[in-house]
Amino acid sequence: MSKKTNLEYEPRSAWEAYASAKDRKAMDKAAAAYVQFLSGCKTERLVMDYVRGRVEKAGFKDGLKGPLAYRFNRNKTCFLARKGRRPLSEGFRLVGAHADCPRLDLKQRPLYEDTDICLAKTHYYGGIRKYQWLTIPLALHGTVVKKSGEEVTVCIGEDPADPVFTITDLLPHLAYKEVVKKVEEAFEAEKLNVVLGQSPADKGKGDDEVKEPVKRRVLEILNKRYGIDESDFFSAEMQAVPAGPARYVGLDESLIGGYGQDDRSSVFCALEALLAEDDPEYSQIVLFWDKEEIGSDGATGAKSYFFEYCMEELAEAWEPGARLSTIFMNGSALSADVSAAMDPDFKDVYEPLNAARLGYGPCFNKFTGHRGKVGANDAHPDFIGWLRRIFDDAGVPWHMSELGKVDVGGGGTVAKFLAVYGMDVIDVGVPVLSMHSPFELASKADIYACILAFREFLKR
Ligand code: MN
Ligand code: MN
Repeated sequence: MSKKTNLEYEPRSAWEAYASAKDRKAMDKAAAAYVQFLSGCKTERLVMDYVRGRVEKAGFKDGLKGPLAYRFNRNKTCFLARKGRRPLSEGFRLVGAHADCPRLDLKQRPLYEDTDICLAKTHYYGGIRKYQWLTIPLALHGTVVKKSGEEVTVCIGEDPADPVFTITDLLPHLAYKEVVKKVEEAFEAEKLNVVLGQSPADKGKGDDEVKEPVKRRVLEILNKRYGIDESDFFSAEMQAVPAGPARYVGLDESLIGGYGQDDRSSVFCALEALLAEDDPEYSQIVLFWDKEEIGSDGATGAKSYFFEYCMEELAEAWEPGARLSTIFMNGSALSADVSAAMDPDFKDVYEPLNAARLGYGPCFNKFTGHRGKVGANDAHPDFIGWLRRIFDDAGVPWHMSELGKVDVGGGGTVAKFLAVYGMDVIDVGVPVLSMHSPFELASKADIYACILAFREFLKR
């Protein structure tokens, strides 16, 4: 009689699954590369630059013709493909993630002077809890396109020698009225104004008198450094993001803290997996989108036809005459996106049996949505059964999760925009704490397990 029948299920700790010295060494190496990636890639454009560098080094070529192919769209979204041993019409393995993150975008006419301070007005991008963005060092990143067509890249606040920027907040001494307000009323979007400077330019005289000398000084510096003027902000995309590098967190350095882990953790894991699995049975496709945090609309979002156009070209090159619908229907995809790890301080919004947990590997969300699964993809059990088999066979720890208690909130991902093609798709990613905050937390063990999970998927 067997001692243990394994009738019950218990999630498996990624720390225990990867307890060997060899695994821990590989985990540390992946974590170090991940920290560097997060620190250097604060915008979707910077992510694209990083991805291009990595795939070109691996032999990928621009244009969808050869066996290692890529295409970038406006340097905000990209399509990567590696030809498998089987024809495309028998299916493909796709991993899709998003490279955009919540942040504060500068308005198109951002600059003003008030109380001898030059400030920049912002319009937040994606779902943020506004108070988290006050009184922290911010960096400015962006692209300015001048009337001549010249493109200027702006980056101030990442180099330790650079100045940083910040948004002020009320001191407690004068906050008696503020603290009894509801959070949503206490923090107004129009007060998310970034401090840019305080010293005046030469005020001039008569007709040459400068009305806002502090703003003028800021403009002078911007002009000297980047050759831009105030009207150039009309054709600019400037983002204020948390300044400085990602860090290890905890005495045991087991966690990684930093901005943008939703969803750059999935970008990182998917890219590592793609570059590691270079002899696949089925063709591999990796997509990194923009605009997920604001609904996946726009030419660079997952709702655009970019993916379809790329597949059309790829099919023409790799398997002329193959029907696109056949290719799509035989595809399978991971919608790679982070999930909310159970927070010990906010357990009441989670349902423990089905909550994602830090340190248990990537978590799979069969469905997302809100109030009765509305807007969810809801993955099919045959696909999940297959995934269970390949991950368990490979010893990759993973768990199933759901975003919080039923009816306390909800959210969506790009899964449904892939599902419209008839392919199998499920949401999967590392669990994170403080999602959408300037300093999100993920477990080193989960990052490592997630890379290995994506590798298994792309290999089979
Ligand atoms: Mn996300
Ligand atoms: Mn998000």
